[in-house]
Amino acid sequence: MSRSSARECLAPGTVVAPGEVLVATEIGDPAHGRLDCPAAPLVGGLLYRRGVRVRYAPVPRSADASQADDGAALFVTTSLRGDGTATAIGAAASSVDGVAMAAARSAVEEWAAVSGTRRLLGAVSPWCPGARRAVEATRQALAQGPVYVCGQLMASPQASADLEKNGAVFARSLDDVPAGATLLIPAHGVAPGVRTEAAERGLTVIDQTCPLVAGVQAEARRFAERGDQVVLIGQSGLAVLPAILGEAPDHAILAETRAGAGAVQVADPRRVSYVLVPGVPVEDTPIATAALRSRFPALRGPDPDGFCYAASDRAETVRTVAASSDLVLVLGTEDDPDTRHLTALARSNRAKANVIADVTEIIPSWLAGVSAVGLAESTAAAPGLAARVTEALSGLGPLSVTRRVVSTEVTGRPEINPSGG
Ligand code: SF4
Repeated sequence: MSRSSARECLAPGTVVAPGEVLVATEIGDPAHGRLDCPAAPLVGGLLYRRGVRVRYAPVPRSADASQADDGAALFVTTSLRGDGTATAIGAAASSVDGVAMAAARSAVEEWAAVSGTRRLLGAVSPWCPGARRAVEATRQALAQGPVYVCGQLMASPQASADLEKNGAVFARSLDDVPAGATLLIPAHGVAPGVRTEAAERGLTVIDQTCPLVAGVQAEARRFAERGDQVVLIGQSGLAVLPAILGEAPDHAILAETRAGAGAVQVADPRRVSYVLVPGVPVEDTPIATAALRSRFPALRGPDPDGFCYAASDRAETVRTVAASSDLVLVLGTEDDPDTRHLTALARSNRAKANVIADVTEIIPSWLAGVSAVGLAESTAAAPGLAARVTEALSGLGPLSVTRRVVSTEVTGRPEINPSGG
């Protein structure tokens, strides 16, 4: 997996201040011409963690000491990508600053030591098909003028901020929406009262309720209309809950998947139904449904063709990626619940898993002996981080980039996309 140690040469015309290391973003090489340095953020991150002042810049020229007598000291290694083009890892320091020179050499050599051929296995986007469609619909509607979004979209903070910049307004209630405005209903839907009020206010409604959410709403309504109490098997805090609870007011009870349904209290045990709240992995629900069945033998359930498998597929994809990887990089933040969930999934398959919020946080020793790296993107991942990690790793030798997707297709509902879309 390793390649030769750093070559020391000069960078004529490049000046580096004492106490500073310049991490090369590209290097002019006398033999190969201009060399890209995609791994520059990795080198810079390592130096930064060591307390070194780091600057990123191109090094337009490099030359052997025998052919030049000025410029900063440059430490460099080169390798080939899969397509045969050469890349470099390089760092420069003032030739009178021994400490900075040692730091630059060491950083280049440590990354060179873990360079080699690798596979990168990307997992799916953290956003489900329904959420992605709603974001796209908002973008398109903004071309015609301002759009009031009812609540929040399931999207990254960056995507939401971009939409806001282009005229989207995230309204907490219809009181914030002027009469006659355009109202977009997100994928997780709204309670029926909101639709009625929107019609009364003369709002133009763009309804992006996911078909699977609409299906669960219809089932909850139907169960409630025949007098059942409806147990919603899911998790508190899910954005979709108000839309489903609103279809069965005074009839609905939430049963958390983890706690099971043993504590659910009903007025008439012969009149109980349940639905699965979309967004919860289907395989997390059997304990709760079994508990309900044992307590209420006349329990009525939903049409399984209407189940959303987005969360199940995402979890299974991460497990599969982890099973094929020596290391999983979980993109997100340590304090984020979704990041912790993905990390636990990856580790459940005995893969090494490390959380990074930025590409500069990758540590060389993580990659020692690693020939397959998995990437799992949480909802807290910074926009574009997956692409930046991929680019940086491509500077450590030939990198084959693949994407793995586990997708459940419900054959009885061909009009709705796999993975719950
Ligand atoms: S039902 Fe499933 S696919 Fe639809 S918005 Fe909810 S999580 Fe996404």
